[in-house]
Amino acid sequence: MSPLATTLLVLLLITGSGLWLAIARRRADQKNHRQELAKLRLSLDEQLEQAQRERDTLLDALTDAFLLIDTQGRIRFANRAALQIGQARSLVGRSLRESFTDPRLIGALQQCLEAEGHFNTQITLPLPAASSQDPTAMSALVLDSAKLDSFAGIDSPLTRVIIRDSTAEHQTEQIRKDFVANASHELRTPMAIIGGYLENLLDDDLIEDTATSRRFLEVMRKHSDRMSRIIDDMLMISRLESGTHQQLNIETFPLADAFKDVLDRLESLIRNQQAEVRISLPADAPLSIEGDRFYWVQALFNLVENALKQNPRPQLIIELGARKDDQCCDIWVSDNGVGIPSADLPHIFRRFYRVDKHHTQSGIKGTGLGLSIVKRAIEAHGGSITVQSTPGVETRFQIKLPNRRMEPASGCGQTDEQSAAPLG
Ligand code: ADP
Repeated sequence: MSPLATTLLVLLLITGSGLWLAIARRRADQKNHRQELAKLRLSLDEQLEQAQRERDTLLDALTDAFLLIDTQGRIRFANRAALQIGQARSLVGRSLRESFTDPRLIGALQQCLEAEGHFNTQITLPLPAASSQDPTAMSALVLDSAKLDSFAGIDSPLTRVIIRDSTAEHQTEQIRKDFVANASHELRTPMAIIGGYLENLLDDDLIEDTATSRRFLEVMRKHSDRMSRIIDDMLMISRLESGTHQQLNIETFPLADAFKDVLDRLESLIRNQQAEVRISLPADAPLSIEGDRFYWVQALFNLVENALKQNPRPQLIIELGARKDDQCCDIWVSDNGVGIPSADLPHIFRRFYRVDKHHTQSGIKGTGLGLSIVKRAIEAHGGSITVQSTPGVETRFQIKLPNRRMEPASGCGQTDEQSAAPLG
């Protein structure tokens, strides 16, 4: 081989191996880049997953239900609170009808989908039987919706809906409305009667007729007394409901003294009805109560007065009693009178609730506020009241008061649902 050819071959070999080395290095670089890219992608995926987990944790922590619904009406995201409203284990991918049972809720969600922009509506639904003994009890939901162009990788337009449980506010508002309506109704009746008699006296010129005007004035006085009683009772309820604890004038007093105050105030009624009143108190140690004596006397007065009012018949026996153990003080007022029908028992602590049957039979008039005052006064002291009744045998109002005021001891607390039951 000529020297030139040899040189050329060497040069070729050198260039070739250089080229090969460059290609090999480039391949290695590309491989490294691919590996780094894969690592980066993995880390990005992990970060995305982490961000989605955090988002879901946050949305699951909301007490409000949160839903994302696409234009076809399919749920694309639902937090934990939304699952509790829905009927399926998972709502994602399901239609509104597959996810919810109540047509009012489905209709309201449909309205959210159809609305342009921001939309807000409220619906009321019957409470599940398990959560309330009152078949008329309603729950309230507020739905708030808005449009989203996209959300977390879902590229179709979405509607986000937040569903808030506003049952507590709804019930408070309902109680307020009922109270105003009942109070106006209760006050309007005596007011109209007084107005009617006044009109007769003045327009028919009856003032000179002393006998007639006296009779009219007496009726008017009776109705004006009734109005005063209703207003006094309403004021007492409102005082007990507004920051009750601060309003109480706490002292320690013997329960026997409170019993005596009540019986002194009702003495003539007891005598007229020839009722027998029995007191049952521990003989060994005087039983004292720490509380506002005024409200305790008022509460016990209302209970004993009810027993007398509802039973204007001979052989009525009323018992006032109390006993104390380590945790609670039990106080009761019982009678052997007409009793309270079991259908009325769950309602009798409600404001303005009266068992009409008794009234039409005997013309007994009450404000329907007496037991509401009793319940609120006792609850303001951290206690609870229940009632049991077997008509004609025994009606027993039972108060449980924790020994340490304002701290319900176990077994001393009582829920609303448990507060009334038929005896036996
Ligand atoms: P009122 O002012 O009408 O007495 P309450 O709130 O005190 O209102 O009582 C509510 C209803 O409960 C009364 O209308 C009455 O029918 C019934 N009630 C309360 N206590 C008794 C009782 N001891 N015996 C029979 N019925 C009672």
